[in-house]
Amino acid sequence: MSFTLAEPPLLANQAEAGSHAGLPSTIGDLTSYDFNVGPHVEARAVVSELERRPELPGVLVLDRHVCIGMASRRRCFEMLSRPYGVEVFLNRSIQTLCKELAFAPTFLPASTRIDDAVQSALDRPFEQLYEPVIIQFDGGAMKLLDLHVLLLAQSRLPANANSLVRQQIEIGRALSSTLELEVLDMILHHMAEIIPYDRAGIMLQNGIVLEFVAARGFPPQADTRQMRVNVLESDIYQEMCYTQQPVSIPDVSQRPDWRFMDGIAAACAWAGIPLIHSGYVIGMLSLTRLTFDDYSQDELALAQTFAGQAAIALQNARLYAEIKRFNQELEGKVQERTEALQTAYDKLERLDRTKSDFIGVASHELRTPLTVMSGYTQMLRSDAAIQANQNHSQMLTGIYTGITRLHEVVNSMLDVAKIDSRNLQLCCKAFDLGGLLESLQNEFAPLAAERRQTLTVQDAGDLMIEGDRDALRKVFYHLLINAIKYTPDGGQITLAAHQPETGWLEFIVSDTGIGIDLAHHELIFEKFYQTGQVALHSSSKTKFKGGGPGLGLAIARGIVEAHGGKIWVKSPRQDEVTCPGSQFHVWLPFTKPTEEL
Ligand code: ADP
Repeated sequence: MSFTLAEPPLLANQAEAGSHAGLPSTIGDLTSYDFNVGPHVEARAVVSELERRPELPGVLVLDRHVCIGMASRRRCFEMLSRPYGVEVFLNRSIQTLCKELAFAPTFLPASTRIDDAVQSALDRPFEQLYEPVIIQFDGGAMKLLDLHVLLLAQSRLPANANSLVRQQIEIGRALSSTLELEVLDMILHHMAEIIPYDRAGIMLQNGIVLEFVAARGFPPQADTRQMRVNVLESDIYQEMCYTQQPVSIPDVSQRPDWRFMDGIAAACAWAGIPLIHSGYVIGMLSLTRLTFDDYSQDELALAQTFAGQAAIALQNARLYAEIKRFNQELEGKVQERTEALQTAYDKLERLDRTKSDFIGVASHELRTPLTVMSGYTQMLRSDAAIQANQNHSQMLTGIYTGITRLHEVVNSMLDVAKIDSRNLQLCCKAFDLGGLLESLQNEFAPLAAERRQTLTVQDAGDLMIEGDRDALRKVFYHLLINAIKYTPDGGQITLAAHQPETGWLEFIVSDTGIGIDLAHHELIFEKFYQTGQVALHSSSKTKFKGGGPGLGLAIARGIVEAHGGKIWVKSPRQDEVTCPGSQFHVWLPFTKPTEEL
């Protein structure tokens, strides 16, 4: 044969598709064909080539790189159907044939805008109207452009350009705002406006099957969520995984490995676009047409953009699902723990109630015999015979001191029981604070003196305050006893009062004792809580670190809070060597001016 065929147009256009990733704006960007032959090539050879490649719009006749004519597919086949001898026609050279056609081809530079090219093409005489135009590329190359391709480009792509941008913005927005798979349906929906299809599906590879995660255009009875496509060795999908490139099949019935799905209209043209994530194919976008309307390279390039979005959506959804699952697990665990904690809390509450009940019952039961014992002891102490016997008198004093201490403990237990059961009844009235403080000074001075401690109680003059005097006395009693107990011999203890702000009166009991660790600042106000060793308990109420039943501060807090006040401690740490000291602060509501303080 005397002519050479140029490289298959498909390949040439594929290379080009990569070079202009955006949308076509000039005719140089459109799919065109360079089927050119020398002037002496027989028409027969040209016609059989046109038959073999239905996409070719015609043939260019070149004589030493100069175009001397063009014969369109339409004209060639029109001639074949003429009544006189086909053989005559087929035996002629293509050059002769072109002369017979007798019209000048339309040449347009590759940089011609699509709109302008359409205009030029439509300006031609009527009989020439549907002839291909010849694109002239820089460097002299020439290619045939099918008028249908040009018209399609004009009618569809410029409008699509805006539409595509809009779609992409919308999808982008959806991708960043939703993590659910619904965004895939949206991608398919928007894509339909740009790349016409009859059926589309986004399929995700799960082991050896492809599962539909989104679908559009399927008949209602087709439950795509249940549809599975097995991945077979060297099938179209495997091929796609290997090349990571879209696959376009103009007529699927020509593919022996094509698997038609039951219950849905048979596909004609099909395109598959791989969904690539982190360099791996994770599934595919499947586009089906029920006509033999092949997917163009431009459409495949556009579809790849959508496939990219789908891959992101799938990845987002996967991460979201993972986080969701993790959160659910976490919630389940929290729920479990909360239930366990609630059970433990209920149990503790029950135990605490039992303990409070026991304290109440025990203290009541103990008080009566104690009162009897105390009465008889006092009677014995006033007995002349016992007074005469120094030994007996001393023993009796010991018994009496013990009973008094026991009385105090039982009274404390009763107080705590009342506080716990919210039965603490205050008898609030105005009383002389100065008098109370003075009596505390008188009561505690000898106890402090026993420990060679200095006790300073501020003189409050004759300031009257409102409250339950006896109850408040107990508060200061416990604070001062503790201050004496937890301060080494020779230390200092003070009780001061002032008005920190309007409406409040503050009492501060300070000592130069062992101090309290921060971790215990709250806990020491719980009943029975002690920071020291329980074994160090002593019957003396003022012995250094003597310990006690662990009720004093619980009672103090109960009484202060019942007055609408608050109590807390300040101390840097517990240290028996450096003795950083503690400060117990008591705030009580106060309505009178404090100038008298
Ligand atoms: P206790 O009967 O043990 O004194 P409290 O309720 O009065 O019970 O005190 C609880 C714990 O708080 C004490 O065991 C002690 O460890 C600590 N504590 C109370 N007051 C002081 C203080 N002034 N200095 C150091 N520790 C103190």
